[in-house]
Amino acid sequence: SKAPSLTLNNGVEMPQLGFGVWQVPDDEAEKAVGTAIRAGYRSIDTAAIYENETGTGKAIASCGVARDELFVTTKLWNTEQGYDSTLRAFDASLAKLGLDYVDLYLIHWPLPAKDAYLDTYKAFEKIYADGRAKAIGVSNFLPEHLERLIGETSVVPAVNQIELHPQLQQEASRAFHARHSVATEAWSPLGQGKGLLEVPTVVAVARKHGRTPAQVVLRWHLQIGNVVIPKSVTPSRIAENLDVFDFELDADDLAAFAALDEEKRLGPDPATFDFGA
Ligand code: NAD
Repeated sequence: SKAPSLTLNNGVEMPQLGFGVWQVPDDEAEKAVGTAIRAGYRSIDTAAIYENETGTGKAIASCGVARDELFVTTKLWNTEQGYDSTLRAFDASLAKLGLDYVDLYLIHWPLPAKDAYLDTYKAFEKIYADGRAKAIGVSNFLPEHLERLIGETSVVPAVNQIELHPQLQQEASRAFHARHSVATEAWSPLGQGKGLLEVPTVVAVARKHGRTPAQVVLRWHLQIGNVVIPKSVTPSRIAENLDVFDFELDADDLAAFAALDEEKRLGPDPATFDFGA
């Protein structure tokens, strides 16, 4: 793998940069994931709701890289929260992926009004104890949700995957995660390729290093300790996004990035999002 690994709180190694496949149709996922693995990615981030676990699994089966060199994440969708339904949904995800274990299984959203994430997580602990997920964690959990989860269950989540990019720096969550040894994984790390990559500060730092805006944004994530999972279906960008391990942002660059925080969410607010609940 071209990406260095972080050690999760249970000792499992996770590549710090992986390939996200949200919005990649199932019949294109095999090709995109295959391109990413050939380019050197070893971590793939999918989810049941992305409806591309089958295509992702086909790429994993045919890529020629040993299973134990890959790190596969999938997520439990909202409609399946609850103890028994989680166990069934996990079996369905494994079957679609064609795998007998995943490296990381995440609760996709907390759905606080549904109040089922504790029961859901207890099923995750069973899956973990059975060795069918090498690590378990959550996504889109606010510190208050994590605090309650950690207080009432026995396995501290290895990861919280949250929306995070220079315009939404998530200081409070990152500090909470650091205190509890939960790794911070950034979704939409490139701000979905929208305005962020044209922000003058980002463009200037990119020019200074002779790199692209996407590359300096990914460097910022890596240097503040995040796991990142940029998405692209364009082979040249897939390669470009992984080619970020031979340069460094300096203190001036990091200070310039720190000033970009606008607490600007592109996605839903986890406190109120209840789609499928
Ligand atoms: P992203 O920030 O990775 O941006 C992807 C978009 O940026 C691409 O579609 C493309 O338009 C553009 N892009 C990519 N590389 C580029 C480059 N080198 N130069 C210029 N433009 C480039 O956004 P994302 O897909 O939303 O997030 C990444 C992954 O995070 C997803 O694929 C998914 O795996 C995960 N995710 C998780 C959740 C969650 O709720 N847990 C939500 C959203 C996304």
